[in-house]
Formats: sequence, C-alpha cells, structure tokens
Amino acid sequence: MAFITINRQNFHHNLNQIALKTGSVDKIAIVLKDNAYGHGLKIMAGLSNEFGIKHAIVKNLKEAEVVREFFETILILSDEIVKDDLCSFTINALSDIVKAEKGAKVELKVDTGMHRNGIALDELEEALILIERQGLNLVGVMTHFRSADVMGSELFWQQKQFETVKNKVRQNGFINVRFHSHNSAAILRSRNFDEELVRVGIAAYGYNELPYPFDDFSLKAVMMLHASKVSTREVKKSQRLGYAGDFTALKNMTVSAYDLGYGDGWTRADSSKPYVTVEGLPILGRVSMDFILLESQKDEVIIMNNAKEAAKQFGTISYEMTTSLSSEIPRTVI
Ligand SMILES: *Cc1c(COP(=O)(O)O)cnc(C)c1O
Repeated sequence: MAFITINRQNFHHNLNQIALKTGSVDKIAIVLKDNAYGHGLKIMAGLSNEFGIKHAIVKNLKEAEVVREFFETILILSDEIVKDDLCSFTINALSDIVKAEKGAKVELKVDTGMHRNGIALDELEEALILIERQGLNLVGVMTHFRSADVMGSELFWQQKQFETVKNKVRQNGFINVRFHSHNSAAILRSRNFDEELVRVGIAAYGYNELPYPFDDFSLKAVMMLHASKVSTREVKKSQRLGYAGDFTALKNMTVSAYDLGYGDGWTRADSSKPYVTVEGLPILGRVSMDFILLESQKDEVIIMNNAKEAAKQFGTISYEMTTSLSSEIPRTVI
C-alpha cells in the first residue's frame, strides 16, 4: 500500500521557527484546509495541539467538525454562516452578512488588492452597519496578500491599505476584534510582526515558497510519500512497458510495479520527462491509474520527501503536490 509518513519533529521545528517570528505560539493559527494540505486533517490538528497551537483555520464546517476538540477558535474560510460556540465564519461578500444567522461569530474579509474574495474598501462602513443590524458578533477583520511571495513593493501597498481598514474598524467602535493578514510568505518576510494572528499554512508543512531565502530560514518537509511493491518481473532488452508501451527497455532489467498512480493523486504528467524518485529511480513509461513501474526490487520505495523539489519536476508548486494526494492513502506519524 502507498503510504505517507508525517514527521512530528519537523512539523514542530517549523512551528517553532514561526513562533520566533510572531513572538508567541498564541499568535499562530494553523491553516488545516484541504486535509491539512494533504497531510491529514486530524493528524495535523493533533500535532498542532501538542505544540500548544490554539487557533485553526479550515475550509468549511465539515472540516471544523473533525478538529473541533483540539482548538479554542476555528475560522472557517467559506461556508454558510451559522451560530457556533467555537467557530467563526469568513464574510467574503456583503451578501454573506444578510444571509448569516443572528449571533454568529464572523470575521470580515476586506479586499485590499487581491480581488478574489472580501468586501471592497469602499464597502467597509456599509459592512460594519450591516453586521450590527444583523446581530452578528464581529471577532476578526482580515485581508489576504496577492503577492507576498513575489519580491517587490506590492505587499507593502496592501499592508498600508489594511492599516486604513484597521483604523476605520476601531473608529466605528469595534474593539475586541483580531486583525490578521499574514500568510506564510508574509510572515517569513516580516521583521516586526504586530498583529494578533498569523495564518500559516505551507511554511508549517516545511516549504518556503519565496524565490530566495529572505532570512536564514530553515524549514523541514513534514511529509514523506512511499509506495510498496506489487509485483516484479524480468524484462528483456527492447521490450516495451506499460500503457502504449511508452518505455522501451534498452537492456535486460528487473522491473517492479508499485502502488501509486493518479488514482492516489500522483500526477500523471508527461512520460517523456519521467519523474525521478528520491532514490534516483525514473518512473518507466506512463503512470497508469494506480501503478508506476520502477527498476527496483525493493519492497518499499520513497517517492517524495520534499514536495517543493518534486514540484520542480512537474512545473508546479509544493501546495499542489501535497494537496492532491488522496485522503485514502494511510498516514502515520513518525
Ligand atoms: C490558504 C490561506 C492561507 C495560508 O496560506 P499559506 O501561503 O499556505 O501560508 C492564509 N490565509 C488565507 C485566507 C488562506 O486562504
């Protein structure tokens, strides 16, 4: 069976690095959306809790239910807004406010330049009035940066916009509101963090997606992906292997099938540019639904131990490599 191992020590190392930036563990909200970026929702929630993390961020109420026991607050990024003791809900548009259940805890997302979700800057006053009128409990105000991972001044432009938002919210008499804007890239770039919360995802899982290290920041990959041998055969020179016989043996070789494929969320990609595993084994021919062929007889092989490195081979990013992996693959903590 293909399987994933989760390195507890590396995860805690990364959280510790982030805590050094924020100045306190209490300021870290761990982003656990999409099955904790493919690492396993419940496992990562438990390990976060072990480290002392009190706040989590998930995609929807369904994810929140799985991790409820581990946290003091959970922010839901996009779901119907209902009253809940633990969970707060993101307001992504003015229309969310009027549909929200009275008494619900909400966090207002303000669009300071990314133009994906959130109310416009000139809708802020209206939003605050509507929130009061609807009887909602505003516990947070947030924004998201469009280019925290791109060098340049855009990040600072958005931060300035957010300062204006903060002032307006305070002027309108909302005092017990937590302000947050930083994702991983922003906190890695930040020198003097002064907000209540950082929303950290990818960095906690071990990846610095900045184009070059801003600081001397050491993060360690948390996930390792393994596959297990299903069968082995001797292949003669010039025999063609797999679907469409894409791979031609240039010599006699011993080949095994391993149980990983696009059925598990491993990318099929282009068989003319084969992925090379951590142990230096190129995938032979096409990835078929649930299997790959490797020139190996080992019972278990390591397919990936660093998603950022693996992503380079496919022209994608670490986020996609880990998040794509099926939740059906067993995950264990080591
Ligand atoms: C996913 C997400 C994050 C985390 O981003 P990373 O780059 O993984 O740290 C933070 N904030 C919001 C609103 C998000 O959707």
